[in-house]
Amino acid sequence: MNQEALLELASANVQKAADSRIEQIRKQLPVGESATYCIECDAEIPERRRASLPGVQLCVSCQEVTERGTHR
Ligand SMILES: [Zn+2]
Repeated sequence: MNQEALLELASANVQKAADSRIEQIRKQLPVGESATYCIECDAEIPERRRASLPGVQLCVSCQEVTERGTHR
C-alpha cells in the first residue's frame, strides 16, 4: 500500500471515530427533553425558551448566573 492510500485510510478512520464519539455524546444527553421547571430554583421555564433551547434545564436567571460563573 502506498503512503497516499495509508493517509486516506487514516483520515477516514479518524472521521469515523469522531462520528461515533459524537453519537455517544448525543446518546448520553437526551436532547429535546427540556425541563419544565428550573433544576436550580424550580421556576417555570417558559415554553418559548424550552422550544428554542432543546434540552434546557435552567431558567433565564440561573442560566445567566451559570454563564457568568458568579456563584462559588
Ligand atoms: Zn432558575
